[in-house]
Amino acid sequence: MIIDGKEIAAALRKDLKKKVVELKSIYNAVPGLTVILVGDDAPSKIYVKNKEKFAKEIGLNSEVIRYPADLEEKVLLNKINELNKDNKVSGILVQLPLPKHIDKRKVIETIDYGKDVDGFHPINVGNLSSGYESSIPCTPLGCSLLLKKVEKNLNGKHAVVIGRSNLNGKPMTQLLLKENCTVTITHSKTKDLKIECLRADIIIAAVGIPKLVKGDWVKNGAIVIDVGINKTDSGLVGDVDFDEVSKVAKAITPVPGGVGPMTIACLLSNTVECFKKAYSK
Ligand code: NAD
Repeated sequence: MIIDGKEIAAALRKDLKKKVVELKSIYNAVPGLTVILVGDDAPSKIYVKNKEKFAKEIGLNSEVIRYPADLEEKVLLNKINELNKDNKVSGILVQLPLPKHIDKRKVIETIDYGKDVDGFHPINVGNLSSGYESSIPCTPLGCSLLLKKVEKNLNGKHAVVIGRSNLNGKPMTQLLLKENCTVTITHSKTKDLKIECLRADIIIAAVGIPKLVKGDWVKNGAIVIDVGINKTDSGLVGDVDFDEVSKVAKAITPVPGGVGPMTIACLLSNTVECFKKAYSK
C-alpha cells in the first residue's frame, strides 16, 4: 500500500474548511494564522507561500509578515508580543531557519504558547512529553495521522525512529509512546542502524540522507513513513529507498506526496485548535 499523503491532506483540509464555517457561525470570528518570514532563504519562501495559499483556501485569516535578513532581533520580539495580544491572531509561526544574529530560542519562547502552532515552545514540548494536551509539531503530527490510516491500533508495536531532532524525531517518539508503541530512537551515533530497523514494525525516517533505508533493512509487513526531503540530481527523494522498500513494506509513504502535504494540513489544524481553545476559555 502506498500511503497517499496528498489525498489524506486534501481530505483533512476539506474537514477544516467546514469547521471554520461552523466556528464563524458560533463565534462570529475565524481563526487567524500569522507567519513571519525573515530574510531570503529560498525553500522558506516556498514553504511560506504554500502555507498562505492553503490557509486562505480553508478560510483562515492569513497574514504573512516579511522582514529583511538584517532585521534587529528586538523588532521581531516586539512584533511577536504585539501579535500575542491581538485577538484576531490565533496562531503565530516564525519560519525557520532564522538569520544567525537572531536567537531562535528567544523567539520561540516569546510566542504565547497558546498561539504556538509549531509546537516548539518549551511549555508545549513539556506538555507533550508529559502526555498532556499541547500543540504538536506539524510534521510528526502528520506522520501519526498517516500511520493511523494504515493501522488504528498501534498498541505494543515496535517503532524505530531514525533521527532525534526537536522538529521531528523527538516529538515523533512522544506521539508513538502515547500510542503505546515500544520506541527505539536512533541517530548519527547509533552503532548498527540496519539491525535496529530490522526489528521494527514501524519505521519513521527523519534524517536527511537520500535513500538511507534499504530494502534489506526492513522486515516484511513493516509500515515505513519517510519524512526526508532530499534534493538530488534525479529529483526529490526521501530517506528511504522507495523502490527497494516498497517491495517488502506493508505500507510506505512516497516522496514527494507523502508526509510533506500533511505538514501544512496539520499546521492549519493546529491553528483551528488554538482558536477553539482561546474562544472556549
Ligand atoms: P536534522 O538535521 O535536524 O536531524 C537529523 C537527525 O538525523 C539527527 O538527529 C541525526 O542524529 C540523525 N542522523 C544523521 N545521520 C544519521 C545516520 N547516518 N544514521 C542515523 N541517524 C542519523 O533534520 P530534521 O530537521 O529532523 O529533518 C530531517 C529530514 O526531514 C530532512 O530531509 C528534512 O528536509 C526533512 N523534513 C521534512 C519535512 C516534511 O514536511 N516532510 C519537515 C521537516 C523536515
